[in-house]
Amino acid sequence: MLDDFKLLIGGKLVDGDGSMDVINPATEKSISRCPRASKEQFDLAVRAAKAAYPGWGATPIPTRQKVLSAIADQIETNRENMARLLTLEQGKPLSEATLEVGITAAFFRYAADRSYDTRVLVDKDNQKVELLRRPLGVVAAIIPWNFPLMILAFKMPLAMLTGNTMVVKPAATTPLATLFFAQLIADVVPPGVVNVVTDANDLGDVLTSHPDVAKVAFTGSTATGMKVMANAAKTMKRFSLELGGNDAGIVLDDVDPATIAPAIFKGAFFNNGQVCLALKRLYVHESKYEAICTELAKLADAALVGDGLEQGTAIGPLQNAVQYEKVKGYLEDARENGRIVAGGEVPDGPGYFVKPTIVADIVEGARLVDEEQFGPILPVLKFKTVDEAVRRANATSYGLGASVWSSDRSRAREIALRLEAGTVWINQHIDLAPNIPQAGTKRSGIGVEIGEEGMLEYTQIQVLNEAI
Ligand code: NAD
Repeated sequence: MLDDFKLLIGGKLVDGDGSMDVINPATEKSISRCPRASKEQFDLAVRAAKAAYPGWGATPIPTRQKVLSAIADQIETNRENMARLLTLEQGKPLSEATLEVGITAAFFRYAADRSYDTRVLVDKDNQKVELLRRPLGVVAAIIPWNFPLMILAFKMPLAMLTGNTMVVKPAATTPLATLFFAQLIADVVPPGVVNVVTDANDLGDVLTSHPDVAKVAFTGSTATGMKVMANAAKTMKRFSLELGGNDAGIVLDDVDPATIAPAIFKGAFFNNGQVCLALKRLYVHESKYEAICTELAKLADAALVGDGLEQGTAIGPLQNAVQYEKVKGYLEDARENGRIVAGGEVPDGPGYFVKPTIVADIVEGARLVDEEQFGPILPVLKFKTVDEAVRRANATSYGLGASVWSSDRSRAREIALRLEAGTVWINQHIDLAPNIPQAGTKRSGIGVEIGEEGMLEYTQIQVLNEAI
């Protein structure tokens, strides 16, 4: 399984024109050589998707649904191997990788059970007007390295259900689970409907500027999202951008710190903090400040950091060397501008490990607060009034998620409505499901992903207006 990865182009599993190493972030050793596609192979993949489009676009929805079910079956049958591969390349604990594979299958099942109808707008003796939903054509899905399979599953099932064909590009440091997935679906999906190509983080713009790509479904950083948007403009492509975040949580004075700390910890440290929607700034009322810091510190000290394949590991390595260096920079910033109450250490030896870190007595102006850390370091900030907390939480160019923590539901809901974020949770942070749409405000993105609203973004309205 670990030696024979191929690209999927036009229904065929093929070698890359080049190859590259994929590194296990827990050991810094190569897991496998992996195919690296050339620009020509990217172009072939787009051409294959374009050629498959008329057939797939005209395929009845129930047939498309059956293909999506068959993909879900393949994922479930191969769950263990997929999860292991995911841990090897991404670093996350095996339990979280297994969860990710399960969620991936669930998103395909959800789409396999969905449909959409033509709406009749006018139905008179002398006129009929219908609103149809047509596919767009070739969709390019560009995926980051934090959830290689799950983020693919946010896009692919709904794009396929609605009749589009696809070119999928995983991140350069996490291509293996996606290539394994490509191998699993090669005989399940009609040739060319899904193509999978890899790069060394250098060919994304081939897709975003390709005249035969109708839509780019992108998840990644805000900086890259801006480039995607600029490129897409040249050929008026549709696009959805799911970008970075700097989610704030606001903890009110009526909470029980010991009760809520585990959910806050999970919201901040799940996947080692490498989650777009992770809790990245925690604002705590001054009356509960020290107690919350103490409870979070206990959880951080207790979390076992190690190789995701080892039993009991709660926190794996950072996914790649670049991110590891970035996070170490935030650690320096935390030491200079705050008080470290737990963690703060970088264990010796190979692997991109950083202990989960809680930073108190830090304020805006520090990089750890103002920027997206995307790692296991949580700044905890003190506030006096709710108005002040809301203002500080909203004072960011991001607007992905946020949360309010309180024992008073109506008070929490009132504050939630004042937060500038696409998703606001109450007494939890990070909860996703196939029927709950996700959308970023401000520089966290454009467009909607997931659910009914996400599905419709893979369609184009066509009005059929008939004089009778
Ligand atoms: P990234 O933007 O560096 O890379 C994302 C993908 O884009 C990769 O596949 C990469 O190869 C590709 N890419 C790079 N340059 C490109 C270009 N010029 N044109 C087209 N594609 C290009 O992001 P990353 O470092 O892989 O991921 C981390 C970021 O992603 C964080 O900011 C995180 O918040 C964000 N993210 C957002 C969501 C969300 O749903 N909003 C989910 C996960 C991650």
